[in-house]
Amino acid sequence: MQTLNTVFGYPAFRGEQGDIVRHVAGGGDALVLMPTGGGKSLCYQIPSLLREGCGIVVSPLIALMQDQVESLRQLGVRAAVLNSTLDAATSAEVERQLLAGELDMLYVAPERLLTPRCQALLDRARIALFAIDEAHCVSQWGHDFRPEYRQLTVLHERWPEVPRIALTATADAPTRREIIERLALEEARTFVSSFDRPNIRYRVVTKDDGRRQLLDFLAEHRGESGVIYAFSRKRVEQVADQLVIAGINALPYHAGMDATTRAANQRRFLQEDGIVMVATIAFGMGIDKPDVRFVAHVDLPKSIEGYYQETGRAGRDGGPSEAWLCYGLGDMVSLRQLIVQSEASEERKRLELGKLDALLGYCESTACRHQALVGWFGEAHPGQCGNCDNCLNPPQSWDGTEAARKALSSVYRTGQRFGVAHLIDVLRGEASDKVRQHGHDSLSVFGVGADIDERTWRSVFRQLVAHGILEADVERFGALCFTAASGPVLKGEREVRLRSEPPRPNRRRRTGDA
Ligand code: ADP
Ligand code: ZN
Repeated sequence: MQTLNTVFGYPAFRGEQGDIVRHVAGGGDALVLMPTGGGKSLCYQIPSLLREGCGIVVSPLIALMQDQVESLRQLGVRAAVLNSTLDAATSAEVERQLLAGELDMLYVAPERLLTPRCQALLDRARIALFAIDEAHCVSQWGHDFRPEYRQLTVLHERWPEVPRIALTATADAPTRREIIERLALEEARTFVSSFDRPNIRYRVVTKDDGRRQLLDFLAEHRGESGVIYAFSRKRVEQVADQLVIAGINALPYHAGMDATTRAANQRRFLQEDGIVMVATIAFGMGIDKPDVRFVAHVDLPKSIEGYYQETGRAGRDGGPSEAWLCYGLGDMVSLRQLIVQSEASEERKRLELGKLDALLGYCESTACRHQALVGWFGEAHPGQCGNCDNCLNPPQSWDGTEAARKALSSVYRTGQRFGVAHLIDVLRGEASDKVRQHGHDSLSVFGVGADIDERTWRSVFRQLVAHGILEADVERFGALCFTAASGPVLKGEREVRLRSEPPRPNRRRRTGDA
């Protein structure tokens, strides 16, 4: 407590910090699962100060290490970093300080730690503990896999008496199991904090005019800092351009940009107020900006874990923040396509498709978003959060059995070879060139759905796909085809309840708005 008060200037521990500090300072191993912004750093920083010797922190992010060391030094903690960006003289000085017992904490990049030279150095130093930050990087199924993390078992083998603490904000059960196995943490005590982020308001909307919808959303957040995630580099450029034209202070960020511009954009985002960063998921790990007021997804993220991580960058200061996701069937088709056509193994592809399906289920769900998200990490939540779209405006549902049968019938009669736009033309009896060319205007389903408008039909198809009653055939550019669940619905053996689309917001007409 004294270290917490006098060195860090905080009056009290947050959540489980106190227990974790006590456990690790006492020499125990720990696995800490805590959401982003939960306060993981103190869990190893304080034990490093309390225990004799220097705390060695393994972190994959060079920029972040430097930041942490800077802020520790300002607090009077003797901290240093060893990574590839140092020149020989500086490295030598850090090594000397370590051996002389003049360091409280040393941040080391994993590839550096694995060198024989560094290990020989540590043999000669007094080590207080090993902290393995971003421990999910050890997991091949995760999105940040770092092969060097796999070799960190050396810590346990070479220095068995030194306590280890592994930390991550990725808490799903498979990743957790893999961390324990790969880092030999079977004996470690696991600390799981609540993953709920009550100050984030989650909202999911379906895409009709994505650009317009984004501008309307941003109008609610004028002058605030935020991140907009898009699915590809090209999309990032496109969205950033659109926003700049609309007079918004937006900057792009993706791995294809040159390093200088990218770093400059990141710096501006961190230092200035009210910058909207349009980025791929390359942007984010370790971004510690407390007052990010919103995270918007203009394309579908790849999984619920990814979505949770990305939206978790909002509201780290605890203030009201918003996570907004705008998605359409087209997004889902492109993501499926990307997965199926990738070089990955069949097993991996199946896994990723499964993750995508779970995310779609989340999007179409009528349950509390907070409950659904933490539930995904195995945590119970009473629901009724009062701070998500579904709790604030409970969605209406309707009996979509008949509409679903008509939709399936249009898919079946046209040979399971066409996408949504064409199927809706057939259902609504629009004799487009393509419809006539294929003779679909003479099918029995032609015009049977004229009583339902196009937007509602889109919603029907999207939900049928989300519920696994139809599937997008990625080899055929998103043609819809049957699944095992289609038959019973078509035959009227299964009832289908669909959620109603919320009414379209009234759009103000703006002059000069192309
Ligand atoms: P994480 O690594 O889990 O994302 P950090 O360790 O960066 O989180 O902490 C997030 C923020 O919370 C930081 O600004 C930190 O100073 C603050 N913080 C952490 N612990 C406490 C505490 N006990 N009291 C007040 N603020 C805290
Ligand atoms: Zn809710």
